[in-house]
Amino acid sequence: MRRRLVIGNWKMNGDSAFNARLLADLVHGWQRSAERTLAVCVPYPYLGQAQAALAGSAIAWGAQNVHAAPSGAFTGEVSAAMLLDFGCRMVIVGHSERRQHCHETDDEVAAKAEACLEAGMTPIVCVGETLDERESGVTQDVVVRQLEAVVARNRSRVGDLVVAYEPVWAIGTGRTATPAQAQQVHAVLRDRLRAAGSEAVPILYGGSVKADNAATLFAEKDIDGGLIGGASLKATDFLAIATA
Ligand code: PEP
Repeated sequence: MRRRLVIGNWKMNGDSAFNARLLADLVHGWQRSAERTLAVCVPYPYLGQAQAALAGSAIAWGAQNVHAAPSGAFTGEVSAAMLLDFGCRMVIVGHSERRQHCHETDDEVAAKAEACLEAGMTPIVCVGETLDERESGVTQDVVVRQLEAVVARNRSRVGDLVVAYEPVWAIGTGRTATPAQAQQVHAVLRDRLRAAGSEAVPILYGGSVKADNAATLFAEKDIDGGLIGGASLKATDFLAIATA
């Protein structure tokens, strides 16, 4: 039985007052569930706020990035141990916005995943193709290459990963992959994870998931939940997705 997760990616949004309301509404609205994990990945400055609001609740919290090195002369960076110090259980690595804007490579993403695993946190490994890549027919090549880099570096711990398929053309655009399009890619990722010895890795879908399309996406056999951007900033929408 695979775990089901719905994880909010707040991206660079929020302030103390907004977050306080959102976190309180989530705590109020979410019931502990043995099958489903609900979590929010918040900007670094608000990790302490998330920890204070969510400690003892049924909601987990995490970060949106990490540096691969354990410490040292990396001005502006944050290590896995620092995130753990704030109670993070998970970290998004390789989000397409970081691959695109910060030029993160597959190897860097793999090293970040390794740093998370060594610290005892779950890396949420994002993979996904651009529109150009989809239209050129190389979607599978791209997502497999991105996944394999992480698998190759973390071979003995593949079972501790969570993978998120996020087609770049669907992120923040309102254009969602159809359930069939998403399932097709998830099945490819599932095969690769099975070949690496782990059937049980949850594979989440992300990209314009909303309350009204979550149920049909999550009904697909290899979709184990979602990584949710915009819709995770509104408690009623995020909770509706989490229960879809
Ligand atoms: C994301 O940023 O991971 C994401 C899926 O964003 P959105 O839900 O807004 O498309």
